[in-house]
Amino acid sequence: MKDARLRLPLFVAYTRLDRLRPIARASAMRGTTYTVARLDPHVGGQVVISDTILAEPIDVQAAVLAHELYHSQSPTQDAPRSAAACVSEEVHAMGWEAYAYANVTRTDPTETVWTRSEEHRMEL
Ligand SMILES: [Zn+2]
Repeated sequence: MKDARLRLPLFVAYTRLDRLRPIARASAMRGTTYTVARLDPHVGGQVVISDTILAEPIDVQAAVLAHELYHSQSPTQDAPRSAAACVSEEVHAMGWEAYAYANVTRTDPTETVWTRSEEHRMEL
């Protein structure tokens, strides 16, 4: 955890949600940090992508960015939403990801975990 203001809600989630504990432990083992920040609703957020993406073929890079571009421009991105609206947005983002992956052609036959994941998504 990085932000002490999240200590209490994380403690409550960990102690009250038995089924979440293995997930919380796995997250902690990976060194995941959580941060809260005041965001200007009139300015786009910040998207942080692992630099491992830079080693991926261009079609994967374009697909991941298409996914995040969709999220970043969603008019309901910062508003409280229903679970159904969140699922719908993720489905749309994955659609844009698949669209990008299908329409950007890489110049080499490199296969990675990401390319296999994108190929699998294309089959859905
Ligand atoms: Zn998404």
